[in-house]
Amino acid sequence: MPTRLNPSNNAFHHPMHSAVTGGDGSLTDKAQQGLSRVAWSDQDTHFMRHALSLAEKAAALGEVPVGAVVVMDEIMIGEGWNAPIAGHDPCAHAEIKALQQAGQHQQNYRLPGATVYVTLEPCAMCAGALIWSRVSRVVWGAADSKSGAAGSVVNLFAESKLNHHAVEQGGVLAEESAALLKKFFAAKRGTEKTSSKKVAADSRTSDEPAVSECEQNELKQNKLKQTELKQTELKQNEREQNKLKQHEAPCTQSPRS
Ligand SMILES: [Zn+2]
Repeated sequence: MPTRLNPSNNAFHHPMHSAVTGGDGSLTDKAQQGLSRVAWSDQDTHFMRHALSLAEKAAALGEVPVGAVVVMDEIMIGEGWNAPIAGHDPCAHAEIKALQQAGQHQQNYRLPGATVYVTLEPCAMCAGALIWSRVSRVVWGAADSKSGAAGSVVNLFAESKLNHHAVEQGGVLAEESAALLKKFFAAKRGTEKTSSKKVAADSRTSDEPAVSECEQNELKQNKLKQTELKQTELKQNEREQNKLKQHEAPCTQSPRS
């Protein structure tokens, strides 16, 4: 750090996404609405891979695996990984930490011209920080259906009332990022089962973006079934006790009374 990327790697544009920029390079209406994405390059993939390696670092430390890097003129000027548990800091998301490091590197609280790569769709807090930092572009990996603020829940980047807009594009190495999250949460659930301990509360823990709704529904239904079984057992016990009482009752009364 800072690291310069080989400049020969920047020519490729993904064919699926090359249609959304206008002829003059401006974003089309679709892109401005956040409904579609502009192209990404080999350079984007390169930096996203680095962000993924930072996410792996977070996972190794027991934090939800999210990583971010800030790049200016093909040089990495900031990097961060998710660390709210270790620092008892609800704001210690990967993007915030990467922005803070980039700000120190530039000796400037604003980062115009910078691109931020983050493995997971930014939350509302991070989207706010990215907008405040005046970065030019935000590239993210997997979508976060529970707290994503780049289109999944809300799209702060498309909010016309805000006075600064970063170009935002998602889906870069999304599968790798989602697989990392899924593996992390699966391992965590395994640990929870064996230790029967509650895992420390974390703003991103409850979000589990990689867990499918099907899996969650299955878990809910299993819980419901267990509750129903317990209730049935309790009712049976109650009935048996009532029966016993009825049998006992004549014995306690004098047959002569
Ligand atoms: Zn965040």
